[in-house]
Amino acid sequence: MASGIPDDAVLAAVAQRYALRGEWRPLVGYDGRNYVVRRRDGVAAVVKVASPQTPTGQIDLEAALYEHLAGADIGVAFPRLIPTQDGRDRVSLEDGRTVRLLSFLQGALWADRSTPASPAQLLGLGETLGRLTVALEPFSHPGAERHHEWRVSDAPRHGDAVGLVPAPRRALVERALLDCRAAMLRFGSELRRAVIHGDANDHNLFVDGDRLVGLCDLGDASVDFVVAEPAIAIAYAVVGTDDPLEAAGSVAAGFHRHAPLAGAEFAALWPFVRARLAVTVLVAARRRQERPDEPYLYVSEAGAWSALEATADVPPSSAEDHLRRACGLSAVHDRAADVETLREARRAVIGPSLSVSYRRPLAVIAGRGQYLFDADGRAYLDLVNNVCHVGHCHPRVVAAGQAQMATLNTNTRYLYPQLTEYAERLCGTLPDPLSVAYFVCSGTEANELALRLARAHTGRPGLLVLDGAYHGHTGTLIGASPYKFRGPGGSGAAGPGVATVPTPDPYRGPLRGDGEDVGIRYGDAVAAAIGDSPRPVGAFLAESLPGCAGQIVPPPGYLRTAFAHVRGAGGVCIIDEVQVGFGRVGEAFWGFELQGVVPDIVVLGKPMGNGHPMGAVVTTREIADSFDNGMEFFSTFGGNPVSCAIGTAVLDVIRDERLQERAVELGSRFVDGLRGLSDRFACIGDVRGAGLFMGLEIIKAGSDVGADAPPAPDATVADAIVQRMRELGVLLSADGPDHNVIKIKPPMVLDADDVDTALRLLETTLDEVAP
Ligand code: PMP
Repeated sequence: MASGIPDDAVLAAVAQRYALRGEWRPLVGYDGRNYVVRRRDGVAAVVKVASPQTPTGQIDLEAALYEHLAGADIGVAFPRLIPTQDGRDRVSLEDGRTVRLLSFLQGALWADRSTPASPAQLLGLGETLGRLTVALEPFSHPGAERHHEWRVSDAPRHGDAVGLVPAPRRALVERALLDCRAAMLRFGSELRRAVIHGDANDHNLFVDGDRLVGLCDLGDASVDFVVAEPAIAIAYAVVGTDDPLEAAGSVAAGFHRHAPLAGAEFAALWPFVRARLAVTVLVAARRRQERPDEPYLYVSEAGAWSALEATADVPPSSAEDHLRRACGLSAVHDRAADVETLREARRAVIGPSLSVSYRRPLAVIAGRGQYLFDADGRAYLDLVNNVCHVGHCHPRVVAAGQAQMATLNTNTRYLYPQLTEYAERLCGTLPDPLSVAYFVCSGTEANELALRLARAHTGRPGLLVLDGAYHGHTGTLIGASPYKFRGPGGSGAAGPGVATVPTPDPYRGPLRGDGEDVGIRYGDAVAAAIGDSPRPVGAFLAESLPGCAGQIVPPPGYLRTAFAHVRGAGGVCIIDEVQVGFGRVGEAFWGFELQGVVPDIVVLGKPMGNGHPMGAVVTTREIADSFDNGMEFFSTFGGNPVSCAIGTAVLDVIRDERLQERAVELGSRFVDGLRGLSDRFACIGDVRGAGLFMGLEIIKAGSDVGADAPPAPDATVADAIVQRMRELGVLLSADGPDHNVIKIKPPMVLDADDVDTALRLLETTLDEVAP
């Protein structure tokens, strides 16, 4: 810290340009140096010296704000910018620093008070900020559109500092950042934005006894969510109180009196309070690394940690209701979605042969983008739902469905352009000669239809499937899904005419290695199965990248070889793209394209309608003509105008938001991070994937060294990881024949912050469950 008086350049500037001489006293300041100069007659002023690094735009913004606020009544004193003798708002020193003079505020620092703030004081603080919000509403300035490290809307950018805080506390800040990101995504479009003061902390507030009498410091002013203004004040107000919610309620109530908060603002307020607390500790962690001996830089740190801890167990939805009630509004969350109640109801009325994910099941009430929200209002990063491909409740998809539903919904026996336009768009994404579409309502229906097409075309009843495959829940498809017929409750026997071939798993399969030679040898196993099949083989059905079989990326050459054998025997090749299609694999729009082949029939489902039930089969004209034998194909709901509108919107979003490109970028970020973890944790046997379709194979530590046999799978650790990640706010699942492969297949709209968060939390989890 500088000595009591500034250097000669500042002294000279103040003496000459402001005609001010007197006794100097330093004020601790976060950025730059501030002083109080007191003349012999008692008149005092604050001298602010901004460093050369302070952007001119910020000094201009502050000058404009001081001028704007000079004419406003916010109920308490606010400093005025004192002009130089020749009427300028600043003095620029030769070394690049800027000197400004401000009127001195009377009163004691709020930070120096000895007792916790009373509800009345907090209400007064809220009122001041509410008035300030009203005063700032008409204000705008080009310098205000800036990012800075204290801005609530920039909170998610601090994720990279989480590693600097002690391990046991990391989950606390991760949760705060996650809830903040998710709230911004869910409510952001409904939150007012404006220039805010952005720093109503105890060192910027002045009191006279119980009364708030002054507010200063525009160093953090910028455009942000309006609700960030009270959120920041609350983040300081909750420190050291026994009842954080009550303190928050008082500030909110005062604010609401002058600048009424809207519904979404109440929902975002608490997550923003916690995000600001997280920012405080993360900035402090960063500063400690950079400048360990400047204690002002982390004055708020200890308080912020205890406030983060004290508020950790407050469900965001309870906080929202409390804040609403404090402002005289009714609560919006009923507790009907309680986990136990729902479980009971389910046991009573839903068929029991259905499991619920996670040991502590999640009752979800909303989804947005890559996040799901539980009944408590907590956010979960969804890394498993490949159905909500373009994000949960994507507004364009929702709007397309709503508009079409309100206009026309009928069936494919009528003519309407939505059907043919969508079919053209869809077929346009597929290579020739795949050009004729059939629409149904699920992946199962689509696979059933695909098998009928194949049989009609070839007249051969035999079917080959991979030995880890799942293709659907009808009787026929269970018989074609070894994952089911060999799994719990299965008969153990394939359906009539069905034979299996090895899943081309380069890590755990009978042939190991990911070279083309291995791909070809796996492909040759198809020839062997054709030879062994008691019935002439008419079709080969496989996922391009097998999912339930363990997130497998087949070695190159596999499908080319397999297809050649199947076609050579008079069969057709069906590729199930239900899990992996629509750009997920990144380098291509369709998974089979990664293998350089063109199937005869393609089966589509899950992501097609982003959660709206849609499935499709696309084939060649020749096969479609064979199927046209007089029996009609009709699906009551398949291809209806609403589904087509939704499917078209999904394709639009994939294109406009460049989601396929994003899959390349984020997939490699993810895989690189996972490989980094596999260097540290012996339980990670393999990391694999294409784009945003990834798998993490968990093995018994050390079982992969030296042995010729595949490493021993560890389903227990895989499950422990999944369960712990759920507690930390990240949704994953484990699958594969040995239940030891962690599946990662998120909505494609996630971003780099999400990937980094997931990797950090996975590291924390692995440290706990498999150190
Ligand atoms: N094929 C594959 C590869 C699948 O993963 C699934 C569903 N998990 C299906 C088909 C069946 O789709 P649906 O559940 O929509 O009937």
